[in-house]
Amino acid sequence: MDKENIKKIIKVLSETYPNAKCALEFQSPYELLVSTILSAQCTDVRVNQVTEELYKNYNTPEKMISLTEEELGEKIKSCGFYKNKSKNILGATRNIIQKYGGKVPKTMEELIELPGVGRKTANVVLSNAFGVPAIAVDTHVFRVSNRLGIAKGDTPEKVEKDLMENIPREMWSDTHHYLIWHGRQICKARKPQCEVCPVAPYCEYFNDEVKE
Ligand code: SF4
Repeated sequence: MDKENIKKIIKVLSETYPNAKCALEFQSPYELLVSTILSAQCTDVRVNQVTEELYKNYNTPEKMISLTEEELGEKIKSCGFYKNKSKNILGATRNIIQKYGGKVPKTMEELIELPGVGRKTANVVLSNAFGVPAIAVDTHVFRVSNRLGIAKGDTPEKVEKDLMENIPREMWSDTHHYLIWHGRQICKARKPQCEVCPVAPYCEYFNDEVKE
């Protein structure tokens, strides 16, 4: 897709979702890191409910590490996959204390070395906690980008690379939020609501459907 079309899509999405932002609630980079690990296969609403309680007493690496895997697992149980998530959160926390003096590191290379942290989580933290331009490719960003045609790829890494090439750097973080909100509200996984979609005129999927 040519870059002019991509610009138009981003402009329309920015007007449609002017308040699009990270739906996870957090007060520090560490809280966002933990919340993002918890959000795998879980809704942001549920994560916020769980962390509202959890962060009352365990909102820093030093406090979190006082919990055992079982104790933390109990507190985050309703987020699903709690055994793994508990193990990863405590593993990442231990690393942050031992290697980074209790501060969440600020680079992709360091973040993805932490247990349970992949590129998506790292990008969420970089973008929302540290203001570093980044595009985290979750299931919505992956699907909507491919349908629209603003990035093509069969893996999140390919879509991330394409988006970074096609979109100006200063727009990466906002575009990430627009695509998530669009995926949640209109371009849904099972049944995209193309008939009410404001970017339908520019969308490859829609235009291919119309032609058929
Ligand atoms: Fe998604 Fe349909 Fe909109 Fe394209 S036109 S972005 S497929 S909802």
